[in-house]
Amino acid sequence: MKDELEKKLAEAFPFMQIKEPPKEQEADGRICDLYGAFGCECDDGWYETLFGLCGEITEAYKKHGQPVDIVVDQIKEKYGTLRFYYHLSQNNGDLRREISDIVIKWEKKSAEVCERCGKAGVLREDLQWIQALCDECYLK
Ligand SMILES: [Zn+2]
Repeated sequence: MKDELEKKLAEAFPFMQIKEPPKEQEADGRICDLYGAFGCECDDGWYETLFGLCGEITEAYKKHGQPVDIVVDQIKEKYGTLRFYYHLSQNNGDLRREISDIVIKWEKKSAEVCERCGKAGVLREDLQWIQALCDECYLK
């Protein structure tokens, strides 16, 4: 995703800010903060999808009167849909479930949003790899 869009997400949602320096590494050289290292590993068309997801998460915290403690681990595309990996530091059962439901809902929704341009799309399974695309982007 474009830096410009990632910045807009970070401005709207503090938990989307990328920590600098981001490349926290394990002793074996494996990067553990994949979001910090690579940002949103998906195309620009899912910007609105991510914005909606982050907005609902923020609302859920407000509703429960809890401080936002979500840490984003990785955001990427897999088998044509969005994957949003995260962890929470507190163990508030209801809020935890609610956030999990929100993430699953938006991950599913991403299958109907063109990853390239954000228009209505469908999963195309006859490409080199599965991708959610609108007709126009699919034909390109
Ligand atoms: Zn498209």
